[in-house]
Amino acid sequence: MVNSITIKLAIVKNDSLSYLKLDISESFYIKYNMQFTLAMEYSRLVKQLYHSINYQNEEIRFEIIYSKRRTFGIKVSGDGSVIARSPNNVDETEVITFVKNHSKWILKQRRLLIESRSDKVFTQSYEQGQLHRYLGNEYILKVSFSKRRGVNLFEKSLIVKTPKPDESKDVERTLRAFYKAQAQQILPQMIEKSWSKFKHFNLDPPEYKYRFLKRKWGTCRIDGLITLNLELMKEDMDCIEYVIIHEMCHLLVPNHSKKFYDLMDTMLENHRDIEDRLDKIII
Ligand SMILES: [Zn+2]
Repeated sequence: MVNSITIKLAIVKNDSLSYLKLDISESFYIKYNMQFTLAMEYSRLVKQLYHSINYQNEEIRFEIIYSKRRTFGIKVSGDGSVIARSPNNVDETEVITFVKNHSKWILKQRRLLIESRSDKVFTQSYEQGQLHRYLGNEYILKVSFSKRRGVNLFEKSLIVKTPKPDESKDVERTLRAFYKAQAQQILPQMIEKSWSKFKHFNLDPPEYKYRFLKRKWGTCRIDGLITLNLELMKEDMDCIEYVIIHEMCHLLVPNHSKKFYDLMDTMLENHRDIEDRLDKIII
C-alpha cells in the first residue's frame, strides 16, 4: 500500500480563493523534493481549473462558472482575469467556442481596464484647490503652514496644516494619517454592526487591518484576516458597509460564485447598486 500525503492548496486569484486538494504518494514525495512535487501538481491543477485560448499572440486564460442561467456571459476584471459564465449542462466545448468568438472584445476590454486602472485608480493630486473626498462628499484642498500637523474639515474645505506646505509628499502623508485616524474611529462600529448579521453562523470573529491598497477595496484571508483599503474613507457609509460585508461573506464562500452572491443577497438587499457605484469609482 502506498501512503499518501494530502495537502490543501489555496490558489489566490484577485481576491477570490480556490481550494484544491492534492494527494501525493509518499514514494513520489521521497523521490522528488517537496517543492518540485508541489510545483508540478500546481501546474497540472491550474490547467484543469483554467482554460486557455490564443488570439493575436495573446493568451486569454479563463475560468468557466456554471450556474442556473439561460445565456452565456463573459466578465473581464480589472486585473485582466476572465470568467465565462454558462448555463448548467452545456458542453464545455460550446463555452470555449463562445469565448473564442469574443476574443477580440475580451482583449479590448482587458486593455481598457488595465490602462484606466493603472493611471486613475486611487491616485490623487495634492495641490491646492484639488477636490478630495471624505465619506462621500467633496472638499477643496487647502494647504497652510503650521508647526503642528493636522487636518480640519470646514464647510467645503479640507484644510491640511503642515510645516512643509510646499511639499506635496508631505501633504499626502498628512492627509493619509487623517484618513487612517478617521478609519480607526469609524470602521470598528461599522464592523460590529455588520458582524451582527453573521452571528448565527458561529464563525470565529476575523481580525482587521486597515491599509492603503492600490487596486482592491478589501481582501479576506482564509485564516480570517480582513484587510480594508483606507481609500474607503473617501466613499459613503453604504459603500463602506458593502465592502465590509463583502469581505465577511468570503469567510463563508471564498470565491465570487453564485453561492457568494446568494449570500450577499441575504446580507445586503441593495448590494448590486452599491457594487456598481464602487465599480464606477474604480474604473
Ligand atoms: Zn470578493
